[in-house]
Amino acid sequence: MIDRNLTIGWLYPELMGTYGDRGNIITLRRRCKWRNIDFRTKVLDIGFEPKEMLECDLLFMGGAQDRQQKIVAEDLKDKVGTFSQIIRDEIPGLYICGAYQFLGKYYKEADGTVIPGLGIIDIYTENPNTDRMIGDIAIIPRIDTLSDFIFVGFENHGGRTTLGKNVKPFGNVLSGFGNNGNDKTEGAIYKNSICTYLHGPVLPKNPELADYLIKTALEKKYKKTVNLEHLDDTLEKTARTVIAQRLGVKV
Ligand code: GLN
Repeated sequence: MIDRNLTIGWLYPELMGTYGDRGNIITLRRRCKWRNIDFRTKVLDIGFEPKEMLECDLLFMGGAQDRQQKIVAEDLKDKVGTFSQIIRDEIPGLYICGAYQFLGKYYKEADGTVIPGLGIIDIYTENPNTDRMIGDIAIIPRIDTLSDFIFVGFENHGGRTTLGKNVKPFGNVLSGFGNNGNDKTEGAIYKNSICTYLHGPVLPKNPELADYLIKTALEKKYKKTVNLEHLDDTLEKTARTVIAQRLGVKV
């Protein structure tokens, strides 16, 4: 009997989704299905009504190149209020790369064009038009229940993100670039929103993060503690170990 359901708002699936980001949706759907949790996807594409976001228990937006980011920034203009409120109300979400940059104050392109952000998190991103930060990355997540794991992913970004002094990074970089290639921070956490540069996609190789999002969304929705049924993650963990070993990181 299905007694739990989750609706995920998938923001701009065509425009915002590089380097396999849609695999995150597939992973969430499968992990819910294996546990008999009804998983509904609500596509929020160009022109959607802000109030449609209010029906979502979880939000996801993938990364993109600058061209797509500009189109989406235009479309987000009338959604800033609702979007900000949802995030402040602790609706969980996963925001990858370009989507992460949107949650900050702005993203300055290599040619100096400024794409305004939602200004929800005290971060800004600038592309100095030097080398892009590309490659596999390994981090230790800074979420208490996940800090025993090493997460891996693939990053490809020109933007360097600077965190305000009160912003908590999502993780500490063990190998790779992370937010800016300097301070060893990766991504950011605000309320229940996880922002990260990890493409790849990030969730299939890091199933604990997928479960963290599912659990948080269910607990928020049903207002009670949820203990997810255990799944056999041998394959997922093997994939992660291969990448970690390639990077010389011990798992
Ligand atoms: N355009 C942004 C950058 O290069 C985001 C890239 C991405 O989402 N992969 O910094």
